[in-house]
Amino acid sequence: MTLSKQPMIFKDIDRAIHHLLNREVVALPTETVYGLAALGYDGQVVEHIYALKNRPKHNPLILHYARLEDSCNDVVWTPWAQYLAAACWPGPLTVVLSLAQNSRIPLAARGGLNSAAIRVPSHPMIQEILRALPGPLAAPSANLSGQLSPTTAAHVAKDLNVPILDGGPCMYGLESTIVDGRTWPIRILRPGALSVEDINTLLLGFPEPITVPDSGPMQDATVIAPPAPSTNVLCPGQLLAHYAPKKRLRLNATHIEDGEGLLAFGPPLLGATVCAQLSLEGNVTQAAARLFAALHQLDQSICQTIAVMPIPQTGLGCAINDRLWRACAALE
Ligand code: AMP
Ligand code: MG
Repeated sequence: MTLSKQPMIFKDIDRAIHHLLNREVVALPTETVYGLAALGYDGQVVEHIYALKNRPKHNPLILHYARLEDSCNDVVWTPWAQYLAAACWPGPLTVVLSLAQNSRIPLAARGGLNSAAIRVPSHPMIQEILRALPGPLAAPSANLSGQLSPTTAAHVAKDLNVPILDGGPCMYGLESTIVDGRTWPIRILRPGALSVEDINTLLLGFPEPITVPDSGPMQDATVIAPPAPSTNVLCPGQLLAHYAPKKRLRLNATHIEDGEGLLAFGPPLLGATVCAQLSLEGNVTQAAARLFAALHQLDQSICQTIAVMPIPQTGLGCAINDRLWRACAALE
């Protein structure tokens, strides 16, 4: 079958499977953001993902599985991480675990580390694809390294010349929350589409283990919340210069200056001629889903810089502020 004349954006899941089995890189929808996917056990094609994104080699990828059980030969599960993952998956949680002795995850996919980040996504298209493949998919976000994550097929097409499976806009519109599942308490490495509050609530039901290997006595806190962004990198790839639009951002704006467009949260500030609304009702979950699309929109508008209204540090507001801080740092 020749595919060269077919459009790069398509809705045929079988075609995406065909490309992947052919050892090609394909952009796919997930419930968080669009991913740039390839066969996760194939080190050579995984290296191609890095090249396409211009991604530094030390920045490891997330491995996506159809089901938790499918990962058991690749990573070592701790009881608490398994409890949390079983409660959240399929969904927007990524767990970092130690590598199993006979793991098939290649060095390239894990940035040379002896750990791996894994997730079971819920989007029906990627689920159907994963169930048809012999192993996991390695998939970072489908954008050039350091730039805004794509939440629609059109966002992907702006940056990358790859086949794109169109599944419509992503439901969460924000990357997954990454936790370190190796030690207790579980530590959040990157805030994301699953809030700290939700994780803590889910862990309330975790029966206390009698012994906790290598990590001392149980502590009361189940989750250690993410630190405010700093240059102290716990998680490779979580460098400050990330998730950046092309225009300069001014955070916590209470007025509009000349040439500024507005990223609004709630009733817009007076005087904004260009405005992208995150949530008129001030709902942080809705705002998270619209964040990247709104920044893409303002990047393409006539405004010169972007004023951002204050967003509360509650629920998904933490993840939104994390991305905005990093975007500012990237532009400094
Ligand atoms: P993304 O760019 O959204 O695909 O996110 C992948 C991120 O997961 C990387 O930038 C790392 O920060 C994190 N990650 C992946 N593997 C590991 C690992 N083994 N240890 C710690 N963090 C990891
Ligand atoms: Mg990314």
